Amino acid sequence: MSSLSAADRDQDVVLMAEVLEEATYVPHHKKKITFLFSAMRHFAQELREARWAVDYVKLDDAKNSGSLIGEIELAVKNHGCDRVLVTEPGEWRLSKSLEELTNRLSVPLTLLVDDRFLCSRSEFADWADGRKQLRMEYFYRDMRRKTGLLMDGDKPEGGKWNFDAENRNPAGNDLDFAGPKRFEPDAITTDILALVSDRFTDHFGTLEPFWFAVTRRDAEAALQQFIESGLPSFGDYQDAMLSDESFLFHAVIALYINAGLLDPLTVCRRIEEEFRKGRVPLNSAEGFIRQIIGWREYVRGIYWLKMPDYVNQNFFGNSRQLPAFYWSGKTDMACLRACIEQTRDEAYAHHIQRLMVTGNFAMLAGVDPKAVHKWYLAVYSDAYEWVELPNTLGMSQFADGGLLGSKPYAASGNYINKMSDYCSSCRYKVKEKQGSIACPFNYLYWDFLARNRERLGNNPRLAPVYRTWDRMSEDRKKSLQEDAARFLISQV
Ligand SMILES: Cc1cc2nc3c(=O)[nH]c(=O)nc-3n(C[C@H](O)[C@H](O)[C@H](O)COP(=O)(O)OP(=O)(O)OC[C@H]3O[C@@H](n4cnc5c(N)ncnc54)[C@H](O)[C@@H]3O)c2cc1C
Ligand code: SF4
Repeated sequence: MSSLSAADRDQDVVLMAEVLEEATYVPHHKKKITFLFSAMRHFAQELREARWAVDYVKLDDAKNSGSLIGEIELAVKNHGCDRVLVTEPGEWRLSKSLEELTNRLSVPLTLLVDDRFLCSRSEFADWADGRKQLRMEYFYRDMRRKTGLLMDGDKPEGGKWNFDAENRNPAGNDLDFAGPKRFEPDAITTDILALVSDRFTDHFGTLEPFWFAVTRRDAEAALQQFIESGLPSFGDYQDAMLSDESFLFHAVIALYINAGLLDPLTVCRRIEEEFRKGRVPLNSAEGFIRQIIGWREYVRGIYWLKMPDYVNQNFFGNSRQLPAFYWSGKTDMACLRACIEQTRDEAYAHHIQRLMVTGNFAMLAGVDPKAVHKWYLAVYSDAYEWVELPNTLGMSQFADGGLLGSKPYAASGNYINKMSDYCSSCRYKVKEKQGSIACPFNYLYWDFLARNRERLGNNPRLAPVYRTWDRMSEDRKKSLQEDAARFLISQV
């Protein structure tokens, strides 16, 4: 971490603080707060063992100011500091507060580049400068060239940059899933569990069982388990969903990478090594590496390029409230129920559950994208605004009008049925298009397209679906839209 690399162990003090402002600016999942506070306390212990002086402020310390900025000001006074070193924060909100602090602090504050990312904020801005259209695929190719990952000279390994077309298999119940590695809470984590249970009762989510890794060593063990048991099938079943399998072949490491317990480039080099040794197929290795050096870096670049206005984007002008069932899971729609209950219990859902179930429904229903954004930021253990906001507002809600994707990820029940087993236990019938037992995604899909024709009608990728809509009789169109209106009034 750049602030630690730049610090001097013999004279500097490392400040770490658990503050209420960070824990409550959205009602973060109880498991997420536990994970972060416990990982912080473990890291403080490791630093002390390595002879660093650590000023660690616990949430319940009497003099806790409640904010990171307040803690920096206090520490400067208490330790008589003559300079402050900070690694640039991951959220615009904090970046702004630090800027304001710099103006009133009596000592210089140096903001250091976060070198845990492959592409710095200024490098991304240079890459984007002058391009007519920003597309992840081209950025990703540059990151492959820059890192040399999966390259064969100056050509991509296997002759293609992207093997996504091979990664769309549904999963059967006959597959064997080891799932993520689980860890028993130690004394530090047990203390935090009591603290969170006491102080954050009204926050979303089930607190126990808590099994996340909270140290680098354990996070590496979790990665190793994924490499051995999940990675070989990661590509094939990347988009699949099953009611009784929350994790399938996914890594469940975003929380560790985003919190700094795992280094993204080291993770990718490990994945490449498995491919080179012939232990995983190219489609899995490439698919995985693309998510990290492609999507993860790209969304961060977009975030810093477009903030602070980005958060206010609302291309469709949506204003509906987020349905209450996003917090309770109480809905007859089996797919949404499964994804939300799993989110409540695990602080986790994989990408397609986030994109094509909860995200897809919110967009079709016309929910205010800011409300959707706040939900995603609160409920996942890996959620930080720099990564969550572009994924939610851009990729899943198309609220940026197409900056992150060339068309909205809108789908009817047919897609969910193809990629999951949810529909077989649902009260609604996925094959029915209209009427009270029809799958709501079916008529909401058409209602969404009809409602937004002015905004989407010229999108060439949507031309075939608008042609299908135009071929429907006026009566059919009207009754689809009436079904949608009736349903939305009853649910939202
Ligand atoms: C609406 C929505 C909100 C999301 N919010 C977040 C978020 O707050 N934090 C977050 O880390 N990811 C977010 N994602 C991206 C992705 O869903 C998660 O990174 C992934 O599900 C984490 O689980 P995993 O570690 O098992 O990932 P895997 O499926 O095993 O993927 C491997 C790794 O690739 C990276 N990755 C994959 N897809 C993305 C992506 N689109 N953007 C950035 N990194 C990616 C992650 O680091 C992940 O650990 C969001 C996606 C959507 C559609
Ligand atoms: S029938 Fe529709 S609502 Fe029910 S699980 Fe399938 S897609 Fe979801």
